[in-house]
Amino acid sequence: MAQSDGLQDSPVDRQNLSELEEKQRIIDRAPFRKLKIDDASILDSIEGREICGTCYKSRKFFCYTCYTPVIDRNYIPRVKLPIKIDIIKHAREIDGKSTAIHAAVLAPDDVRIYTYPEFPAISKNDKVVLIFPSKTATSVEALFAKEVINGDEVSFKRISNELPVDRAIFIDSTWHQTKAIYKDTRLRGIRNIYHA
Ligand SMILES: [Zn+2]
Repeated sequence: MAQSDGLQDSPVDRQNLSELEEKQRIIDRAPFRKLKIDDASILDSIEGREICGTCYKSRKFFCYTCYTPVIDRNYIPRVKLPIKIDIIKHAREIDGKSTAIHAAVLAPDDVRIYTYPEFPAISKNDKVVLIFPSKTATSVEALFAKEVINGDEVSFKRISNELPVDRAIFIDSTWHQTKAIYKDTRLRGIRNIYHA
């Protein structure tokens, strides 16, 4: 069925998307290359597996179903994020392989994971963005530019004393499945941001 959904890419957009996809493939090959990793050797000393206290399944380090550590909490940092993160994952995305789970384990107060068609409740007052490289997507940097209208003149002022958003929605799935979720009408009208 032909659909008019904003995803009918022009050749330029297709080129941008394939560049983004290529960058993503490089990140996927070596996802931790640019991160400073703390000493994790303590994890090598943990033998065997533990039973998750919530779902009673056998897990190592953390439970990817319940998003909780199964080893001493002290081994796993707990992070407070400046904004809330909602992750919508495709039902066919395998939990044990999803890197979204790590975010929920590390920042349990701020990260929520939804299995599509489950969806975060978005209220009108939320300053929310969708992280998605659509053709209307703007950069993170552009979020910090505030339009100032002075008579006939329009200028931009950089927002410096507050965060321009309080929630960001990510889609966690393969590129093909992502498009299916992106088309959901509940995501209409939400500003799209790409991150490079
Ligand atoms: Zn569990």
